[in-house]
Amino acid sequence: MENKFPGKDISDQDLKDKFPLSSSLNKKKIIKVSKDITFGSKDVPVIAGPNTLENKDMIFRCCELLEKKGLKLLRGGIYKPLTFPYRSEKYFELGDKGIRILEDIKKNFDVLIVSEIMETEKIHLIENHIDVFQIGARNMQNYPLITKVAKTQKPILLKRHFGCSIRDLLGAAEYALVEKNENVILCERGVSVPHTHRGTSRFLLDLQAIPAVQENSCLPIISDPTHASFWHKWVRSLSLASLAVGSDGLMIETHHDPRNAAVDPLQAINFDEFSKLIDELREVGKVLNKKIV
Ligand code: PEP
Ligand code: MN
Repeated sequence: MENKFPGKDISDQDLKDKFPLSSSLNKKKIIKVSKDITFGSKDVPVIAGPNTLENKDMIFRCCELLEKKGLKLLRGGIYKPLTFPYRSEKYFELGDKGIRILEDIKKNFDVLIVSEIMETEKIHLIENHIDVFQIGARNMQNYPLITKVAKTQKPILLKRHFGCSIRDLLGAAEYALVEKNENVILCERGVSVPHTHRGTSRFLLDLQAIPAVQENSCLPIISDPTHASFWHKWVRSLSLASLAVGSDGLMIETHHDPRNAAVDPLQAINFDEFSKLIDELREVGKVLNKKIV
């Protein structure tokens, strides 16, 4: 079919040629993380937790909050990309201690763990302790990493790089799909723009990317208002807006004492705010026929 809109990110011909596995020419994919958690259905899973797994006590508090709110997906990263290398604490590289905490979480709570991976050599260390591999914005085009992670056949949360188009994002997703791992969940986490409307914010949540991905692709896409805004006061409205534009899920940072969080203390919301937000999302979800899980 002729592409009537040459300005369009992805032409109809490209959908066939370059995106044979991820394009909307395929049946919409429903990605099953467990028997009751799916992305791409009427359910809208919320992945919640701190930026960084600081210690057992704080992550257990988060798990208790998730249980209380009837949620299942925990952010539980033990490898962490930090913009600058100058930190005395090694939160970004918890190593064996981190793996023991992941084991403890699984022993004590019925949660599913979403955990970032940055190096191919570490895949085998966490593979059996987590449920979803997160490939962060900075590694979106690290094709050898995507390929090796895909071979585990575990679901992948692939975050869009802040300077990349949807074309680039779907191209990266193809690297996983071509390994016969169909379980790819995309994530919009903000893009670089000249103005973010706040001094310390670096990105702008590209809400438009959500319907655009859904128009062009068979893969589900979730929204991460926390990383996009970098500002706790905007997380509520941007989460509600993400649900309204049809996001297939949300990633929200929450911490029992956000302003004293080890990493990015301005972006996490506290447990009370999180709890209220989940209630509000559930109310809005009723109107949209979506269930927050
Ligand atoms: C994160 O989710 O912890 C993260 C680092 O996000 P991003 O890759 O989107 O910056
Ligand atoms: Mn971060």
